[in-house]
Amino acid sequence: MTKHVFQTEVNELLHLIIHSLYSHKEIFLRELVSNASDALDKLKYLTLTEDEFKKINFDPKVEISFNDSAEDRSITIKDSGIGMNEEDLIEHLGTIARSGTKNFLGKLTGDDKKDSNLIGQFGVGFYSCFMVADQVEVITRKAGEKEAYRWISDGKSGFEIEPTAKKEAGTEITLYLNDEGKEFANRWSITETLKKYSNHIAFPVYLSYEESQFDGEGEDKKEIKELKTEQINDATAFWKKPKSELKKKDYNEFYKTFSNDFADPALHVHTQAEGAMDYTTLFFVPEKAPQDLFYADYKPGVKLYVKRVFITDDEKELLPTYLRFVKGIIDSEDLPLNVSREILQQNRVLDNIRKASVKKLLKSFQTLAKKEKEYIKFYEEFGRPIKEGYYQDRDNRELLEKLVRFKSTKVEGYTTLEDYVKRMQEDQKGIYYITGDNEATLRRSPLIEMYMQKDIEVLIADDEIDEIIIPGAAKYGDHDFKSVNRSNAGDELKKEGEVEEETNEKETAPFIKKVKKVLGDRVKDVKVSSRLTDSPSVLVADADDPTFQMQEMMRAMGQAGMPDAKPILEINLGHPILKKMSGMRKTKDFDNATELLYEQALLLEGMKLENPADFVKRLNDVLTKSL
Ligand code: ADP
Repeated sequence: MTKHVFQTEVNELLHLIIHSLYSHKEIFLRELVSNASDALDKLKYLTLTEDEFKKINFDPKVEISFNDSAEDRSITIKDSGIGMNEEDLIEHLGTIARSGTKNFLGKLTGDDKKDSNLIGQFGVGFYSCFMVADQVEVITRKAGEKEAYRWISDGKSGFEIEPTAKKEAGTEITLYLNDEGKEFANRWSITETLKKYSNHIAFPVYLSYEESQFDGEGEDKKEIKELKTEQINDATAFWKKPKSELKKKDYNEFYKTFSNDFADPALHVHTQAEGAMDYTTLFFVPEKAPQDLFYADYKPGVKLYVKRVFITDDEKELLPTYLRFVKGIIDSEDLPLNVSREILQQNRVLDNIRKASVKKLLKSFQTLAKKEKEYIKFYEEFGRPIKEGYYQDRDNRELLEKLVRFKSTKVEGYTTLEDYVKRMQEDQKGIYYITGDNEATLRRSPLIEMYMQKDIEVLIADDEIDEIIIPGAAKYGDHDFKSVNRSNAGDELKKEGEVEEETNEKETAPFIKKVKKVLGDRVKDVKVSSRLTDSPSVLVADADDPTFQMQEMMRAMGQAGMPDAKPILEINLGHPILKKMSGMRKTKDFDNATELLYEQALLLEGMKLENPADFVKRLNDVLTKSL
């Protein structure tokens, strides 16, 4: 017998499950039956494709039984699936591999630890059985191997594994029920829970129970217990049922059986194609974004089936990456069963299904967009991946540009690009946008003062990926996207003769030189601004340099070696401060004023000051003098 401890994250997950899911404790059955069904799927595939497995006598089923005697209440879930060897047991029932789940656990604070909706966003899986059991035993034998193993755990101290004997391949899990779980040692609650959560499992699920009959009369009356077995589910592939027979409620139920989600999906798209291509797809968009949406090792949401045989749930190419939040199934009639991963990735049949699926999904999002409120709810969850698609998927550009939304100076909430263009001024040179990470700061940024004054709309691009996707998109229709964060932005807004002071370069040159001398190599240049009206100064990136936010993002992503691109300080010569400064000699007061112009511009960009103490001292000096 070998002892093992749970990985730290498993302990955290166990704690979370037990303390936050108690109002949904019956889901343990859904999780275990769905694992059993996955195990059957995997073995079925091998028996159809691998010679050494073809000869085994495979009878796919899930069998559930229970013991309701008061001192020994338990429930057993048995499957004839792929099973696990010792290594599998340690890896699958002792660790959490995915970084999305790990990170999610790390981020939880005391308050949300009670929120079962949060935890519903990722699969709680096997560990949920510790909500109802104080001891769990797994006896399992991997198909094609001789050894069987017994795994046992109290869900607290870790687990033990020892060799054991088992006749057939598969897994048998027994839960020794605690007070929370004792109500499940009962025919009716098991049946009800299975019907609710596992009705659409594609393999038969049987429940065995004892039925009492009485023989004789009075003193001689004898109780005879008879063992009965009943199939609980209808065991057909849900997606093959005629669409006309299915109601929204049925789709919602099916979604829950395979997605591990507690909530109803936001929408479903069911396609049964016949003719040139013969396939079925059933896709769902969850209400909430999955926790691992932004991790490279995210779990793909789409399962591939061939003629109702499960092939894989770990193929990221079934849909483009930007649609990774979509869950569902693809079932093809035209693929061979033993498709290898290499074949999958460049298979024409699959490629056609993928293309058609993407169009269908994007069109269904467009239909959703007709209902503004619902669409915004969707967009707040999945706007980012949609924008990724806008950037990546040139083939569907026309559909995607109707789906992206941006905040804007002219509207509350979001605007479409189409509406922005409708509001453009007659001689407007492009679609203006400002990037940064804080909406409130951007809305008050000196960079857009001139646009506001001229009543020109500016998109508020406060999502960090906007920095990449908007320049990447480059154009909407005939209109160029123009960043207002660059040093040359605003020049084109200037009308001739409008800004007289700055045209006289000769006069301003010595002044600019003095300012530059104070700031040294902290700035790339100092320029007279053509766009400021109320603010004295602003920091911008040079026309071809990455913006500050972009630089921060690159640093955060570990892109070392990127040279720091220094900002340009733009100053507003029309501002009273600058007017006063232009007549001054380069004294301590001049230096202080210059530093303050630079520092306030940094603050407005949402950047950190290099030395806050110096800033405060300077500010206090100025205050003292002025009071
Ligand atoms: P998930 O099912 O989301 O991967 P679980 O915690 O439910 O997470 O299960 C972890 C892993 O344990 C599964 O991915 C599978 O490899 C293995 N496993 C669980 N139950 C079974 C079973 N009945 N038969 C074979 N393998 C199983």
